[in-house]
Amino acid sequence: MTSHQWRGVIEEYRDLLDIPAGTPSVTLGEGGTPLVRSEWLSGLTDGEVWLKVEGQNPTGSFKDRGMTAAISVAVHEGAKACVCASTGNTSASMAAYAAKAGLTPIVLVPDGKIAAGKLAQALVHGAQVIQVRGNFDDCLKLSRGLADHYPVSLVNSVNPVRLEGQKTAAFEIVDRLGDAPDYHLMPIGNAGNMSAYWLGYRQYADAGKATRKPVLRAFQAEGAAPLVLGRPVEFPETRATAIRIGNPASWELAEAAREQSGGRFAALPDEKILSAQADLARRDGVFVEPASAVGVAGLLAEVEAGESYAGKSVVITVTGHGLKDTITALEFFGDIPQVVVDADIDAAAAAAGLV
Ligand SMILES: *Cc1c(COP(=O)(O)O)cnc(C)c1O
Repeated sequence: MTSHQWRGVIEEYRDLLDIPAGTPSVTLGEGGTPLVRSEWLSGLTDGEVWLKVEGQNPTGSFKDRGMTAAISVAVHEGAKACVCASTGNTSASMAAYAAKAGLTPIVLVPDGKIAAGKLAQALVHGAQVIQVRGNFDDCLKLSRGLADHYPVSLVNSVNPVRLEGQKTAAFEIVDRLGDAPDYHLMPIGNAGNMSAYWLGYRQYADAGKATRKPVLRAFQAEGAAPLVLGRPVEFPETRATAIRIGNPASWELAEAAREQSGGRFAALPDEKILSAQADLARRDGVFVEPASAVGVAGLLAEVEAGESYAGKSVVITVTGHGLKDTITALEFFGDIPQVVVDADIDAAAAAAGLV
């Protein structure tokens, strides 16, 4: 038996991706992320609840799936520089893949609103990071403008190649479970990911690799819930910075995915998002960033409201790693008591509550 080394999403799924023939694979080994059964949520719902743990990607979020595709195509087309607007994770991912490809990465982020871990990633990978006095939506407008007027390749998810890469997460789920789940829950911000999952599920169903398509349920933070309200939000606010977006670029695609799948959008207060993040870490051993806990918070809110998932298979995408934003996580715990003892077994045992 030869062991199979995962080759990254382009080589694993090349025939299923709509990218130009001969596109190279600029890869850091993204994709192939674990689908972890949640004992906690399966028990709570009487269903089969799985977590698609996207924080296990090379830069710690699902953005790497789309970025390998976007940067590879940019290289194929002769680009020398690339630009993106970002709430953090897109810039971290772009900077890493641009470094790998030898492109110059230019990042536009909202001034002071980026989690420290993500900013560090972009800077350490060598990105030119420009902080914009404005929000994500302003940054996206600027990125489009730069790409229109200067020789730089736009790699935001308005670039359809990003969705081609990101849809591979749906393929992996079906490959692993043997069919599509009944329900798929996820956070939604700029709406590229939900749109990409729907592309992937539809493509696998059309190819006969799945007998069904899941119902999609996507969740926003109450302070940044344009899809729930049905109108853009001018000043989006939430501690879940990765989904702090007031006017999603893939609005129509996500709306179509919601409608065609018989799904829905709903919004959650930040406290429920942060407590879902803490519970997921303590009960399932999975540490995610605040935005990544939104799908879990959504499931909990629905169960609380009397929704039944009994006997159903449910996948929740947890989108990014908890280490990206430790400040928000630690703040949620409030004052953490410092326990200091002498190097003494009895003292340590007493402090640990063992005696
Ligand atoms: C980008 C991102 C999201 C939102 O995904 P969209 O495609 O913008 O809807 C959610 N969580 C994390 C961690 C992200 O980085």
